[in-house]
Amino acid sequence: MQDHWSHAPADAAAGPADDRPADEPEYGGEPACLLDRVCPDCGALTEHSPPTRCPRCGATVERA
Ligand SMILES: [Zn+2]
Repeated sequence: MQDHWSHAPADAAAGPADDRPADEPEYGGEPACLLDRVCPDCGALTEHSPPTRCPRCGATVERA
């Protein structure tokens, strides 16, 4: 009487197919917060969050 067991579901034996960690978001490119730091005049990235001044050309970088 082993016919019953041959029809057992194989889902549990298939193993977890998607057990990848969820703490690694697959974002492409730079975070949005860095876009605010781009100088509108020369495109340089400022060291601090706006409003600040561009370290390259001295332009004022306002918050978007
Ligand atoms: Zn600049």
